[in-house]
Amino acid sequence: MTSSEIIGMTQTYQMGNYSRNPVVFVRGEGTRLFDVDGREYLDFLGGIAVTLLGHAHPGVSQAVSLQVKNLVHVSNLFHVPVQAELGRLVSAATTGGKVFFCNSGTEANEAAIKLARKWSADRGKTGAHEIVVAEGSFHGRTYGGLSATAQPRLHKGFEPLLPGFRTVAFGDVAALEAALTDTTCAFLIEPIQGESGVRVPPPGYLAAAEQLCRERGILMVVDEIQTGLGRTGSILASEQFGIIPDIVTLAKGLANGLPLGAAVANDEVAASFGPGTHGATFGGNPVCCAASRVVLETLRTPGFLEEVRRKGHLFAEGLRKIASRREDIREVRGMGLMLAIEMDGETRELANRCLASGLVVNSTAGNVLRFLPPLTVTDGEIQQALSILEGSLPEGGRK
Ligand SMILES: *Cc1c(COP(=O)(O)O)cnc(C)c1O
Repeated sequence: MTSSEIIGMTQTYQMGNYSRNPVVFVRGEGTRLFDVDGREYLDFLGGIAVTLLGHAHPGVSQAVSLQVKNLVHVSNLFHVPVQAELGRLVSAATTGGKVFFCNSGTEANEAAIKLARKWSADRGKTGAHEIVVAEGSFHGRTYGGLSATAQPRLHKGFEPLLPGFRTVAFGDVAALEAALTDTTCAFLIEPIQGESGVRVPPPGYLAAAEQLCRERGILMVVDEIQTGLGRTGSILASEQFGIIPDIVTLAKGLANGLPLGAAVANDEVAASFGPGTHGATFGGNPVCCAASRVVLETLRTPGFLEEVRRKGHLFAEGLRKIASRREDIREVRGMGLMLAIEMDGETRELANRCLASGLVVNSTAGNVLRFLPPLTVTDGEIQQALSILEGSLPEGGRK
């Protein structure tokens, strides 16, 4: 089939909810993607922070194929070795406590929302069911996740949403303090807002928020679906902000492209999910767990996270150098290998020009260009991406 036949088929038989680029990918290897016509691309989007270890990672491929041959699925009414072991690895790598496995980011947040409400109810705090979220947040597309997503444009046409969510300005400690009341059970926050354009909070914000939550007996729930698992240079971004979440949610890179999500809660909170309270048929699927075990073990390799930080600095420095030669780049920001440039105008056209030159990047929040390469990206690939980016910027914006 030709590329246009494949695109036509997608358009005929699938709903139009994605604005897809007219490119058909058939193979990946490391940071590289190959389209149906054999063209090569540098993947600096990584499935939106999903392919942490790059495409066709040999360790992941081997673990998956071995697991597929042995056992693909049994019900969570039974035990499976690889799931048991992954629970231990995820708990040990993050905040400690106990893990609930599911299949996606929105499901992980769904679990966190239910768990926070249940924990509050179990404490006899009747009416304390409200969850405070930040303006510009993104927590997923199911009704729980969407209700927690404080972006009116994503709500349009889908109302009424789930009640019990209150929105505060992102980064504003005083606003948060005023919003936390007797009816609040949790504060749900992304350490760095990804979909809203890699928005890094002001220094001290998250630590102050944690302090407020502790004082008032409110749960600190941190959505690390995009920032987590080494993306920012530590297993959780929370570590670098000096906070310890009561509940943390993970997904995206957790199984390097296989669907797996997790909510991790401290022992006291986790106890509220007793038998029959929550579940997911596919949650903690053995094949996904086998892939994820390789991800977690790789992140623990001595020097791996140090390398992520070093490459993040190298990449950010390159972006700053480009910005210094431009009038149309307002800011370079981010942490580790979660980086972005904010431009004066829309970035969609720029992303298209990069794609045409063989660099996959993402335009988000209108005027932001976001970079989420695999953590295994090489220095050479970073330099190559920087040069494609600079060559794709419009003539007009040069100093
Ligand atoms: C992507 C994302 C989600 C939603 O994950 P899905 O797997 O698409 O449901 C939730 N929160 C954050 C911060 C994300 O980046």
